[in-house]
Parts: sequence; structure tokens; C-alpha cells
Amino acid sequence: MFIGHFAVALAAKTKAPTLPLWTLMSASQLLDFAWCALILAGIEKVRIDPTLRGSPFDLYDMPYTHSLPAALLWSLAAGFAASLAFPRLRLAAALIAGTVFSHWLLDLMVHRPDLSVGISGIKLGFGLWNWPGIELALELTLFFAAAILWWRDGGAAVRMRALALLAWLLILQLIDEIMPPPSSPAMAAISALAAYVSVSVAAWRLELHNQRVRAA
Ligand SMILES: [Zn+2]
Repeated sequence: MFIGHFAVALAAKTKAPTLPLWTLMSASQLLDFAWCALILAGIEKVRIDPTLRGSPFDLYDMPYTHSLPAALLWSLAAGFAASLAFPRLRLAAALIAGTVFSHWLLDLMVHRPDLSVGISGIKLGFGLWNWPGIELALELTLFFAAAILWWRDGGAAVRMRALALLAWLLILQLIDEIMPPPSSPAMAAISALAAYVSVSVAAWRLELHNQRVRAA
């Protein structure tokens, strides 16, 4: 799941137009930001197996980022941080916490059983990765539904830029589909991190531009 996570951020943005989009985009991938860092640090583990369907990742050890208790803790912490950062925005904490946790729910749909219910023990995952066509259709449906909602919300002056951001997300999804599997866990983490940071920066630049247009 890549672009589907960002769909949640776009939908959440329509509920709180003054909450910066880059924070929502980052929140939707917070668990993966943490995963990238812990993979690079050697604390969580992944095996790359090109024979697997859909995704080449055998995510056999990620208790601190993708177990249910960890996902809940990350969500609560992010919600608390949002309540401090945006004290006057009533929905900020709930939207940020919900967006962070949505990552786990969407991963649950697509991952093979690698998401621990506790810190260890039973692992869940409905495995849509094993049916790549269905998985991609789900992601794109989520994305286009949220993108239409969000795009209709934008002012006319910024719509072309908004389309550019949506196009960038589709390009990243396409790259993800056609690229060969990464050569190592570190490369997987670095390329994922680069994609996520590029989306957050693009969202930040878009809203900076919007503010300038509105101020002019
Ligand atoms: Zn994830």
C-alpha cells in the first residue's frame, strides 16, 4: 500500500482545511517513516524475496512500528503532539491520530500476516498483496475518491498545482509498480523514505504557494 495511505490524508484535509496538508501526509505514513529509520538502524527486520507476489517484502520483524499496540501508541503520541502544535484547531488531534492509525488498518488489508496483535504472537494481514490487481484497484479507488473530494475543496487559483501534487503521487505509485525489488533492506528503507519526504515537501510547497496566491 502506497498511494492509498495518502488518500486518507487528502480526505482528512477536507475536514480541517487549516490543518497543514504536509502534516496529514506525513501522519498517513508515520509508521513507515519509523519503519525506515528502524530498518536502517537494524532494529526491525525485512527479507527481500522477489518470488513473493505483489510486494517482495517478507516483513517478519517490525514490533515497534507495525504491531497493533505500537500503532496505537504512535497514533496517540502524534495526536498529542498535534494538540500542542495546533491548540486552536478542535479536530487536529483526532484527525492526526486517526490518520496515523489508518495506516495500520490499510496495511492490515494488504499485508501478508506480519502485523502482530500483541508485541509478539498472533500476526494478522488479509494478504491482498497476493492479488496485485485487486490490491492496486483498491488503492486507486481510495486515492481517486479522496483526490476528487480534496480537489473540489481547493480554490481555483491553486487547482493546477493541486493536480501536479496528485500527478506526483501517481508517478510514485507507477515507479513502485515497475521498479525491480530493492537490492537490500537499507535500499528499501532509503527509497521509501525519499518517496515519503518528497510527498511531504510537495504538500508543504503547495500550501506555501496557496498562501501567497491568497495574500496577493
Ligand atoms: Zn506500513
